[in-house]
Amino acid sequence: MQTPQVVTIAGSDSGGGAGIQADLKTFQARKVFGMSILVALTAQNTQGVQESLPIPCSFINAQFASLADDFQIQAAKTGMLFDQDHVQAVADNYRNFSFGPLIVDPVMVAKGGHPLLQKEAIQTIKTELVPQAYAITPNLPEAEVLTGSKIRNKEEISKAAATLQKMGARNVIIKGGHSDGKEATDFVLMEDKSSFQLSAPRIQTKNTHGTGDTFSSCITAELAKNSTFKEAVIIAKKFIQGAIEEGISVGSGHGPTNHWA
Ligand code: PLP
Repeated sequence: MQTPQVVTIAGSDSGGGAGIQADLKTFQARKVFGMSILVALTAQNTQGVQESLPIPCSFINAQFASLADDFQIQAAKTGMLFDQDHVQAVADNYRNFSFGPLIVDPVMVAKGGHPLLQKEAIQTIKTELVPQAYAITPNLPEAEVLTGSKIRNKEEISKAAATLQKMGARNVIIKGGHSDGKEATDFVLMEDKSSFQLSAPRIQTKNTHGTGDTFSSCITAELAKNSTFKEAVIIAKKFIQGAIEEGISVGSGHGPTNHWA
């Protein structure tokens, strides 16, 4: 059997904890072959993002063309997309090339508050990328921005997921990591309109850098291995819980989630 092949379309974290570095480490841990289409670079460490720099859109096109020419990619994910033009370039390329189910992780701001996506790009994400999403994986604040509605309770989470599905995402996962409480509960709305929740005890640690990236890249890897969507989400929830438990204390700020094996 050919090795499953996947690609992350995202930004680089020089600090090695999030972005394409987290994605590629996750792909390796999940035993799929990982590639990367770089959209932006960040000068970053565990304290936060100091600077960011976009890759020219023409070079995004070149990376897509190179990979499409030589590999059989079975699944892909997006992460940091920088601005409107870059979201448009990624959406246009994704329409042209067949890279399998697309997991859209609508990354907006880093933990320290540095923007990873300019505000003007949100509309482009909604109109160009969400309709191509096999699944979208917002956290609660991102789901609020995308739907334009406050999310205060379970009913509003379910409503937000339905709104995102109406925008065109086939499956929706609203991650509960940013809520209060003893458990981190994710709400999952599937293509057939059925839904379920996944809960895990909240781990007290500051080493959570790259949590969202690791979760969405694990789902991408599992889909490439032919898991069903539900199986992929369950595996990813377990994987991210383990990766938070194994988070590493490097640097003086938020250390990265981690998975040694
Ligand atoms: N830097 C890059 C390049 C990212 O893609 C992300 C998240 O997707 C982050 C930073 C933010 O990670 P965190 O919110 O865990 O600090």
